Amino acid sequence: MEPSPLKNTALNDMKIIKDPRQMQEYALARRVEGKTIALVPTMGYLHQGHVSLMEHARPAADLVIVSIFVNPLQFGPREDLDVYPRDFEGDCRTCEQAGVDVIFAPQMSDIYPPEFQTEVSVSEVTRGLCGAHRPGHFNGVTTVVAKLFNLALPHKAFFGEKDYQQLVTIKRMVEDLNFPIEIIGVPIVREDDGLAMSSRNAYLSPAEREAALSLSHGLFRARELFEQGEKRSPILQQAVREAIREHAGQSCQLEYLAICDPDSLEEIEQVEKQAVIALAARVGKTRLIDNTLLSRESS
Ligand code: AMP
Repeated sequence: MEPSPLKNTALNDMKIIKDPRQMQEYALARRVEGKTIALVPTMGYLHQGHVSLMEHARPAADLVIVSIFVNPLQFGPREDLDVYPRDFEGDCRTCEQAGVDVIFAPQMSDIYPPEFQTEVSVSEVTRGLCGAHRPGHFNGVTTVVAKLFNLALPHKAFFGEKDYQQLVTIKRMVEDLNFPIEIIGVPIVREDDGLAMSSRNAYLSPAEREAALSLSHGLFRARELFEQGEKRSPILQQAVREAIREHAGQSCQLEYLAICDPDSLEEIEQVEKQAVIALAARVGKTRLIDNTLLSRESS
């Protein structure tokens, strides 16, 4: 279900804009006044991970715009588009509490009218990891983010490291297409027990949630090993696999596990300075992703 077709309204001081043209006119007018704009793109069902992006954005610009749009283009035909959790009213409250100035919540048909036929595609960095398992996903992401950039006209845009490949892909797109926008990555926000926050955690039963914890535990175990001096990717990967097996048995099925250069996302055999360990797994029907950065400097 799409957000209810409220007219563009104001909730206290926060504006809700639904119409893409109005969003662009509003952003342009603020720019003409000399205001700086920060954009936080989301698919809604907001949690503390999203709030952290807003908190990073708030002091970084005069205006903070949060977009809420469940982008059909980035879902595969057998994925969870139809059941993706939505709570527009709750999201409005969350944004208002976080001091957001504008929610941009367009209708699907306004973003993708019937004649729509353009796609933005980033090649190398989208080949592996999630890109290898979700054909078309990143084209959907870059296409909608390019549109959001052209509508909200931000000076800065904030993305979570939780979706690490997405962050790298957006940075690549911005550089390649000369968007005059600074892309800022924000660290992963986790539950107290380590589970990375995600709107999709809402799908998990209590037993599945317990099994899902094995993912972060596995990543933390590998990071500990790395901090103790282990450099070899196969050994670090083995530590992740073992932790997942010990904690979750067969309830957690890895889709991929890779140790990559944090910029190129090419897999590396040996971690000299920095790397990202990234994984995706299925817990029941739910697909979860997580990652952690390994850095020799900070350890
Ligand atoms: P989504 O609504 O899942 O598309 O996410 C919108 C933005 O929030 C993306 O930039 C995500 O990387 C970011 N995000 C989602 N979960 C987290 C988290 N646990 N910590 C930090 N950022 C997150």
